[in-house]
Amino acid sequence: MSLVELKVPDIGGHENVDIIAVEIKVGDTVALDDTLITLETDKATMDVPADAAGVIKEVKVKVGDKISEGGVIAVVEAAGAAEAPKAAAPAAEAPKAATPAPQAAQFAGSADAEYDVVVLGGGPGGYSAAFAAADEGLKVALIEQYSTLGGVCLNVGCIPSKALLHNAAVIDEVKHLAANGIKFNEPEIDINGLRGYKEKVIAKLTGGLAGMAKARKVDIIRGNGQFVGANHIEVALTESAQYEQATQTGEKKTVAFKNAIIAVGSRVVKLPFIPEDPRIVDSTGALELRQVPERMLIIGGGIIGLEMGTVYSTLGARLDVVEMMDGLMQGADRDLEKVWEKMNAHRFDNIMTGTKTVAVEAKEDGIYVTFEGEKAPKEPQRYDLVLVAAGRAPNGKLCSAEKAGVAVTERGFIEVDKQQRTNVPHIYAIGDVVGQPMLAHKAVHEAHVAAENCAGHKAYFDARVIPGVAYTDPEVAWVGVTEEIAKRDGIKITKSVFPWAASGRAIANGRDEGFTKLIFDAETGLIIGGGIVGTHAGDMIGEICLAIEMGCDAVDIGSTIHPHPTLGESIGMAAEVANGTCTDLPPQKKA
Ligand code: FAD
Repeated sequence: MSLVELKVPDIGGHENVDIIAVEIKVGDTVALDDTLITLETDKATMDVPADAAGVIKEVKVKVGDKISEGGVIAVVEAAGAAEAPKAAAPAAEAPKAATPAPQAAQFAGSADAEYDVVVLGGGPGGYSAAFAAADEGLKVALIEQYSTLGGVCLNVGCIPSKALLHNAAVIDEVKHLAANGIKFNEPEIDINGLRGYKEKVIAKLTGGLAGMAKARKVDIIRGNGQFVGANHIEVALTESAQYEQATQTGEKKTVAFKNAIIAVGSRVVKLPFIPEDPRIVDSTGALELRQVPERMLIIGGGIIGLEMGTVYSTLGARLDVVEMMDGLMQGADRDLEKVWEKMNAHRFDNIMTGTKTVAVEAKEDGIYVTFEGEKAPKEPQRYDLVLVAAGRAPNGKLCSAEKAGVAVTERGFIEVDKQQRTNVPHIYAIGDVVGQPMLAHKAVHEAHVAAENCAGHKAYFDARVIPGVAYTDPEVAWVGVTEEIAKRDGIKITKSVFPWAASGRAIANGRDEGFTKLIFDAETGLIIGGGIVGTHAGDMIGEICLAIEMGCDAVDIGSTIHPHPTLGESIGMAAEVANGTCTDLPPQKKA
C-alpha cells in the first residue's frame, strides 16, 4: 500500500478550469477510471477519471476551485494494479458508448413560431421541463402527439396502475379483517365501474396539467414532432381522442428553437413470435380491464407484470408467471422479494423462473404457450389472457434526432452528460430515452436540470441514488447499494435489520410480515443503501434516500425522533440496531 496523488491529466491546454462537481470524499474506494471530479471549460464539461485505484485519504479540491493540468485532486492509498471496488451504486445507468455524431441537416425553410425552449414529448419528463423552463421566464412550446399530457406515467403507467392497485389492496385488506372478527360479504365487482374510476383519476391529473400549462403560458402543440435541422422541429399536427391513438390532420407547423429538450420516452417491447390477438395484451391493454380471465400468464417477472398480476388476481384470475432470470423482481435484494413471494404464493399456480417462452399460439379456446427451461411444464399451457411485460424500448430513433446532429445509440438511447446535454450543446435529453432506470421520478429530476441549464444556470444531475418501488402487496422498496450490488462490486458493508414483528404499528395493522434494512459503508459508517418490504414501503423509502443524500450515519438516523406508532419508526429502529441497542428488540449479542 502506498500513497499516490491523483492529478489532472492533459486537458487540451485549458488552464484554471472550473471544478463543477467533486464525486469523491475521504474514505471512498475508487476503481481505475472512476470519475473524481467534473470540469467545465467554455466549450464542454469533462469528467476526470482516477488513474490509480484505492481508498481516498485526502481530497484537495472543492466545487468552485479552479485547476489546471497536473493539479492534485486527491491522495489515494493505492490498492496496486488490481481494480478496486466502486464506492457506490451508479445513480443512473446512462448509456456511455461513444456513438458517432451525425451531420445535422441544413434547414432552409421558415418557422411558424420561435421559442427559447421547445420540449418534444409531454410525459413527466417533458411537462416538468416545459413548466420549469416557463417558471424561469422562458418562452416555451411543448409538443405532444396525443390528446393529453402526462405521457406513459399518467395515462397508461404509474397512475392508472396505482388506481387499480389501490382498489385491489382494499379488497385484500377487507379479507384480512375476517381474522379480527369482522366479516364482509364477497365483493361484487363491477368492472365497468372500476374502469370508470381509473379513467376519472387519469382525467383529473391530465386535466390539471393542461390547466397548469395554460397558467404558465406554455404553448401546447398537438402533433408528432420530427427534427428537420439543428434549430427546427416540424410538427405533423394530430387529432387524438385518447392516449396512444392519433391521426394526422395533414397540417404541418415548423417551430424554431434556441434550446430543445428531447423527452420522447419509451414504448413497450414487442416479442416477435407473439401473434396479434385481443387475449394477448401489453401493460396498456391490461390497464383497460377488458375482461377478468380465469387463467392468466404474465410474461416477464418485473415490477410492471407483478403489479398488474396483483390486480387481476384480486379480481379473480389464477396467475402463472414466466421469467428468464433466476428470480422475480430483479433489482431488489432476495430477502425482500422472498417476503413478497411468500405472501403472494396463493395467487400463483406456477412461478417459472429461469424459463423462456418459446411459442405462443392463439386458438379458439385460449392462448397456448410453450416454455423451455428450469421450470417449464412439458406440455403447452392454455391461458385466457397473456400479459406481455418484457420491458420497454427507448424512442430515440423515432424523432429524427440525427437531423439535428444528435447521436442516438443502436438501441435508441440518447447519450447525455451530467447537465443532460446531448452531443449538440443546445439540445438536451431526459427521461426514459436517456437510460435506465426508466422511472418517472428520474425523468422529472432530469427535466429540472435540463430546464435550468436552458435558462443559463449551471445545473447537474448529481443525485447519488434513485429509489425503486414495486407497489405490490406488500410493497417492496429499495435504494442505493443493495446486498447484491455490494457482493457483485466487492463493497464492504454492514447491515442492520428491524423486523416488523416488533413494530407496534405493523402488529396493530395486522401486517407485521415485513422488515426494514439499512446498509452502511463498513469503512466510513455512512448509509449507502436500504430496503423495506411491507405495507407503505414505497412511502417510506424517501427517508433513506434523504439520509444517503445527506451523508448520514446510523447515529444521525437513530437519534432522529420518529413518531410513534408508525411504520416509519422502523427506519430509526433499524439504525438503533446498527448502533448496538434497540430497546424494542431483545438485547443484541455482544461480539
Ligand atoms: P413518457 O412518459 O414515455 O412520455 C413521452 C411522451 O412523448 C409520450 O406522451 C409520447 O406520446 C410523446 N412523444 C414521443 N415521441 C414524440 C414525437 N415525435 N412527437 C410528439 N410527441 C412524442 N415509473 C415510476 O416511477 N413509478 C411507477 O409506479 C411506474 N409505473 C409504471 C407502470 C406501467 C404500467 C408503465 C408502463 C410504466 C410505469 N412507470 C413507472 C414508468 C414511467 O411511466 C416512465 O418512466 C415515465 O413515464 C417516463 O417519462 P418520460 O417523460 O421519459 O416519457
